Amino acid sequence: MPQLPWHRTKIICTLGPATDRAGVLERLIGAGMDVARFNMSHGDHASHARRIQQVRQWAQQAGRFVAVLVDLPGPKFRLAELPGGTRELHLSADVMLALEADPADALPVRHPALLQALRVGESVYLADGAVKLEVKTAGAERVVCRVLVSGTVTSGSGINVPESRLSALVPTDDDRRHLGFALAQQAEWLGVSFVQSADDLIRVRALLPPGRQPLLMAKIEKRQALANLDAIVETADGVMVARGDLGVETDLAEIPLVQKRIIALANAQARPVITATQMLESMVMQERPTRAEVTDVANAMLDGTDGVMLSAETAIGRFPVAAVKILQRVLTATEAEYAARLARERLCANEATPAANPISLVACQFAARLDARAIIAPVRNMATVLGIARFRPAAPLVVVADSEDLCRRLAVVWGVSPLLAVAGFEPQSCLRLASHWLCAQGLAQPGDPVVMLSASGAAQGTADTLQVMHVQEGQWQG
Ligand code: PEP
Repeated sequence: MPQLPWHRTKIICTLGPATDRAGVLERLIGAGMDVARFNMSHGDHASHARRIQQVRQWAQQAGRFVAVLVDLPGPKFRLAELPGGTRELHLSADVMLALEADPADALPVRHPALLQALRVGESVYLADGAVKLEVKTAGAERVVCRVLVSGTVTSGSGINVPESRLSALVPTDDDRRHLGFALAQQAEWLGVSFVQSADDLIRVRALLPPGRQPLLMAKIEKRQALANLDAIVETADGVMVARGDLGVETDLAEIPLVQKRIIALANAQARPVITATQMLESMVMQERPTRAEVTDVANAMLDGTDGVMLSAETAIGRFPVAAVKILQRVLTATEAEYAARLARERLCANEATPAANPISLVACQFAARLDARAIIAPVRNMATVLGIARFRPAAPLVVVADSEDLCRRLAVVWGVSPLLAVAGFEPQSCLRLASHWLCAQGLAQPGDPVVMLSASGAAQGTADTLQVMHVQEGQWQG
């Protein structure tokens, strides 16, 4: 196993044309990418399938577990093809939104439901909020708007209508098609876009076949989602603070506090949470990020995010590998200073709170007291791991899992280093495996204390046994 820069906060990279360049993908994995995201809003299935296959191949070569996250587009409205590709919208001018090419000078849209829903006085945002319109005349097929904030729009520019009540749109027909692709690719995670209520997730889950299913990550990017946040977080397997659309659908100024609120709720309910969009945006074109961007990354970690996500930076940017290296450096530097403090705060705050399985809390307290080099947990499902990770222990959480699939699913969870249980679940063989990994990473030395949290034969998979053990010497024998 090659030595990797170890970090607790997970790194999610969106793959695209920029990661197709020779050598980029393996360097992203080498630099610490934990999750590869495939955005179904762009590209075709054939290219995504090729990239997924390459991720799995390079990850295996590197001895790493990298999760595949297939992100469904959801009901995102977009402008259709514009003559010439772009159009300048001037301040105070009138502009018509109409079904494709009707009339020729209208801005074409492909969504009759959108036109039907718009009411006089409503705001319409184009190009991620760069251009703002106000509806002057409503109509089922043609809507006339006044330009309130001018700018340029292009073919495919996004359309946001935050005040509109367009309900029960998830999953769209297009989502169903991409969902079939995600199932065929055995994706570990499925991003569900523009979720408005827990019912949206229930409808998507109803489409999944019995047996192995991808986990659902609810993207929080609608005002209505914030109103229904508790139920959404409870129903989802994970959540994403999707700051791109959230910054158009809600007041941009509230994003910092909304981010903290979503992360706190996800932490409290033991759901992994990813903070996304524009984390290192300037690196799409430049080799060094801004001071504000690196501070944003560190603050997301301090808010309690499980992972930070790169979008255009890695999918179409000029410096995808440099972006991941910077993320890794910022996360490692921040964790070095703050991980122990975060753990202390969490343990104090949760002492009086009833945990689903209180032994997880005790394991973290024990590890902190002993200054243990790791918490080792043999597991057959995610529940025990999520129960421990929510306390943000400073010690690495070395999870010995019973399948590669579970290892990859866990790649999104803060502080978790998944290892495959190649020689069974007995504490001694798990200790040997974890010892080898910890020493290879430079995270422990033989003789250092570790805490093992396992399930006894009678516990039916629920952790019930806590042991203090010591890192073993010698090579992993299997
Ligand atoms: C976002 O809006 O922040 C987001 C992650 O979604 P997408 O990249 O699909 O717009």
